[in-house]
Amino acid sequence: MLETLLASTNQLRQLPIRHRIAMMVTLALMVLMMALPSPNSLAAQFTPPLPVKLRLPLTVNLPSLSETDSEQQAPWQQFTVENGDSMALLFKRAGLSPQTLHQLTQLPQAGKALKNIKPKQVLELQIEDGQLLGLRYPQSASDTLVISRSDSGFSEQLEQLTLQTRQHYASATITSNFWNAAVDAGLTANTIMELAALFGWDIDFALDLRAGDHFAVLWQEHYLDGQHVDQGHILAAEFVNQGEVFRAIRHQDGNYYGDQGRAMKKAFLRAPVQFNYISSNFNPRRLHPVTGRVRPHNGADYVAPVGTPIMAAGDGTVVSSSYNQYNGNYVFIKHSNTYVTKYLHLKKRLVNKGQRVKQGQTIGTLGATGRVTGAHLHYEFLVNGVHRNPRTVKLPQSRSLSGQEKQTFLANSKPLLAQIAHRQSILLARQETNPL
Ligand SMILES: [Zn+2]
Repeated sequence: MLETLLASTNQLRQLPIRHRIAMMVTLALMVLMMALPSPNSLAAQFTPPLPVKLRLPLTVNLPSLSETDSEQQAPWQQFTVENGDSMALLFKRAGLSPQTLHQLTQLPQAGKALKNIKPKQVLELQIEDGQLLGLRYPQSASDTLVISRSDSGFSEQLEQLTLQTRQHYASATITSNFWNAAVDAGLTANTIMELAALFGWDIDFALDLRAGDHFAVLWQEHYLDGQHVDQGHILAAEFVNQGEVFRAIRHQDGNYYGDQGRAMKKAFLRAPVQFNYISSNFNPRRLHPVTGRVRPHNGADYVAPVGTPIMAAGDGTVVSSSYNQYNGNYVFIKHSNTYVTKYLHLKKRLVNKGQRVKQGQTIGTLGATGRVTGAHLHYEFLVNGVHRNPRTVKLPQSRSLSGQEKQTFLANSKPLLAQIAHRQSILLARQETNPL
């Protein structure tokens, strides 16, 4: 530096006077700057501190000051949602004002999420001098809603972690009942109910299962850093009921279709009672629960505990909801000009005449009212006024995928079904080498 300065001084003499003056001024400035303290230490010397507005932009560039700031940053405090809690109560516990909560609820995502807090959820709040600086609210294993205070108020964002998805497979042959077979195969209660719901338009799980029926299911489980967090969807499933094979595959639209692209969801459920309420899934020597032989029996009987929910088999309108000494409490539903379903001996009726009902909606509870010896649901299915067996009657065809959508579905379902078939063949081969 010094050598450069000396060289410059020598060169100066050879330069025109105006240039010399300019160079001298520059040199003088350089010397002055070296002598003065750096801008950093300059800012640090100010006491008392500059007004907040001036100081904030400065501290961003000053390592010494910002370090001090982060040490002073308020810690995150955890608040657990208690029974009967609301955000208003939780904010009160945290010493925050209703106005602050009101501001947060103006944010689109927070507005919804904060209304739906559930007991045992944990929210993290960052509070300084009674002011909320930040809020973290985990929505699921992967998603956290993050609210931060900024100059212009509060802002929100959803932090999303990427979950790993693993495929799981289970299959079993039913020997005594579906539930036990499914549990033994490693299915959770959720997956079991989902599986039954998938095939509930084709198979009466309460009455039509038989020993030797078989199922196979391929589903997803989600993991975060190797830890299981939650269950994904069923991807594909197969159910063999009394020799008949049913398949369901999940499509991109979130609905399930059979292997030919026909919707699993149909106009009627096969059974108006969920199978898990039925004491025995199958009993070839089922005794008839109705007394006497006053009139021919023309329906299906479901024996289950009093109070079991009874579902509308399809969308329709309630044409009767009443009581008489034979039927007890009964509900009749008209589904179109062709179909009527009847539900007898109810303990409670939960719908009124003229009311529209949706498939699967609870219309009453199972009871023992009217002429019966034991609690059961007597269910009738009428086609053009004629009683038909609800378990075997031909029902309206469901929607089918078509065109490009069907091609996409078939292409996507092929590897899933192949996987099930492959696993089945391995299992069969194993059973042949090690017969049970
Ligand atoms: Zn009956």
